[in-house]
Amino acid sequence: MAELKSITPHLSIAAEQAGRDSGQRRRLRTFIPELVQLERLLAEAPESVQSRVLTRIPVKGMSVPIYRTDIGSRASDAPVVLLVGGVHGLERIGAQVVIAWLASLISRLRWDDQLNDLLQKVRIVALPIMNPGGMFLNQRANPAGVDLMRNAPIMAQGDSAFLLGGQRLSPRLPWYTGEQGMEPENEALKSVIDELLPNSRFSLALDCHSGFGWQDQIWFPYAYRRRPMRRIDSMMALKLLWEQAYPNHHYVFEPQSAHYLTHGDLWDYFYKQVNKRGKGAFLPLTLEMGSWRWLRKRPRQLFRLDGFFNPLAPHRHQRVLRTHLLLIDFLIHAAVSHENWLPAGDQARMLREAAIMHWYREA
Ligand SMILES: [Zn+2]
Repeated sequence: MAELKSITPHLSIAAEQAGRDSGQRRRLRTFIPELVQLERLLAEAPESVQSRVLTRIPVKGMSVPIYRTDIGSRASDAPVVLLVGGVHGLERIGAQVVIAWLASLISRLRWDDQLNDLLQKVRIVALPIMNPGGMFLNQRANPAGVDLMRNAPIMAQGDSAFLLGGQRLSPRLPWYTGEQGMEPENEALKSVIDELLPNSRFSLALDCHSGFGWQDQIWFPYAYRRRPMRRIDSMMALKLLWEQAYPNHHYVFEPQSAHYLTHGDLWDYFYKQVNKRGKGAFLPLTLEMGSWRWLRKRPRQLFRLDGFFNPLAPHRHQRVLRTHLLLIDFLIHAAVSHENWLPAGDQARMLREAAIMHWYREA
């Protein structure tokens, strides 16, 4: 880490780009334009934005990088906000939302004193393209055929949905969990989490997906069982905080188990790991952008696979990119001021009861 900090980020990314032959660059521009856009953005970012390659994923005779970008406080106990996109290669809009937010932040860094003051108090780590190989191949899974969201070492309790909940039959079928161990993409994410979250006073993650449902939803653990997690009081507090501050922005907050149970959920796994060993609470969120609305308005999208997961009409695409910027800003403010709202004592007990009434009455 120490020697990496000394590398000027602009130079390393520029070298990364220059090191590719023109044929490879052309293929990247065609198949992962998001990666090219991200590299350009990071290469031009001010020095306070530090980026590096966590690992490289082999795909079609090339190797594509997973970038990590750090912005803000370097204090070891600072609150952390982790932004992840592109876990599922087909859900490109997730990567695009994280990149759009980064672009907005980077442009404001140059003049916004308030933003720079805020960043003294929080560390933001972004992995906008977690599954570059899957994005290159335009498929949900990574190049080995593994669904990264089914690949953590945690098994569903009770009935997981057949296939959808994760399967070990074949990498040629969807929702393949892999045979053993975590895939390199997930190991890369784990290295970031292990390094930062256990020491942090408070941490949040937002992992951006699309493709399920009519509405934008925010899912939280667990996916592996129907019972509430220990930090459900804090999740309820965060939901109320958002709804009071932004009553006109609608997200449905729900435990993933309200929809279906899955094996190998990454965020279940990290939630348990960090909250067991860590100094502070860790609340992982998954943004599931409801893509069925985009289909209803443009039914011919059904005939294109990418259209099932991504808004294709330009005005709709722009709207999606701008809508979620506010949520990410909110999460950063919530992380900085966590001491002002994280519940304790009686308040925590009340919120826990409210959460159980609201989300778990049937269970
Ligand atoms: Zn997804």
